Amino acid sequence: MTSSSKSRKRVLSGMRPTGKLHLGNYVGALDNWVRMQDEYECYFEVADWHALTTDYADTSRVKQNSLQVALDWLAAGLDPEKSVIFIQSHVPAHAELHLLLSMITPLGWLERVPTYKEQRENIQDKDLGTYGFLGYPVLQAADILVYKGDVVPVGEDQVAHVELTREIARRFNGFYGDVFPEPQSLLTIAPKLPGTDGRKMSKSYGNTILLTDPEPVVRRKLKTMVTDPARVRRSDPGNPDVCPVGDLHKIFSGKETMAKVYEGCRSAGIGCIECKGWAADALVQLLSPMQQRRKKFEDNPRLAWDILEAGSERARKTAAATMDDARAAMGMTLAYEKPKPDGGQ
Ligand code: SF4
Repeated sequence: MTSSSKSRKRVLSGMRPTGKLHLGNYVGALDNWVRMQDEYECYFEVADWHALTTDYADTSRVKQNSLQVALDWLAAGLDPEKSVIFIQSHVPAHAELHLLLSMITPLGWLERVPTYKEQRENIQDKDLGTYGFLGYPVLQAADILVYKGDVVPVGEDQVAHVELTREIARRFNGFYGDVFPEPQSLLTIAPKLPGTDGRKMSKSYGNTILLTDPEPVVRRKLKTMVTDPARVRRSDPGNPDVCPVGDLHKIFSGKETMAKVYEGCRSAGIGCIECKGWAADALVQLLSPMQQRRKKFEDNPRLAWDILEAGSERARKTAAATMDDARAAMGMTLAYEKPKPDGGQ
């Protein structure tokens, strides 16, 4: 199927299964994915092979983490009736296309990927001098191109990867003929979401609020959250625009609460404990329905696994059709062909 014959534009996105998801993952990607389901034909992959590019030494948790990610996705509102939700390693065509693309991708293209350099410098506790780590953007390209993805929702730091995918697609099409559409980045403008210590919410900082945190845990975490440093005493006025709790309100609270926060904080009319309570209310309101949806799958995780298996089956079909096109373009179909007079010399 070419991209023009598809009724809706096709989206491919994914996440590495590295454990339970937090609010930062929700605001940065998942919330957007849930909304995209009605407009696009979406493929969402649990990128378990990508997890191996950095965590290859211990693979004991990858499979369980994959299931956990799926639970979080389903809880957040990804719908298997609307989207194809699957596990990357269950669709071997990703590996086949990765291999073919790796044949044509110049090393220099990979060495200049900004996240490659950055992570090689920053991650000291693992040896990332591997072939797999250098090649992970090629695997990403294969993930997208094997579905002839039209659109890839990305944060700013991933735009370079989609650009590389476009270059690889162009190079393949140039050598062998038009097989792959060049995917477009769809920039997700995610609001700044601080963690409890005021830095960007991230698992590696230990400052997250998980999508699965029960109400008492959310309230406890909020209580310890840093605030505007100028508000030392209850009687000191503060400024929600420089307060991480204020940032949470901007994302999750309604207009009425926002007005109370601005007015109360600037006039010292409210205390931070009260203000944090309102922020916690908004988070609990967001997370409760997710946690209720999750319960069904927590009680019977097999249901989620079945969804992943059914999604992988659908993904394999789409990917197989693309691989037929790629092999045909390269003159390497699986069918018998009569020897040519030159004997293949
Ligand atoms: S009242 Fe709210 S916005 Fe103002 S400093 Fe305290 S926590 Fe932050």
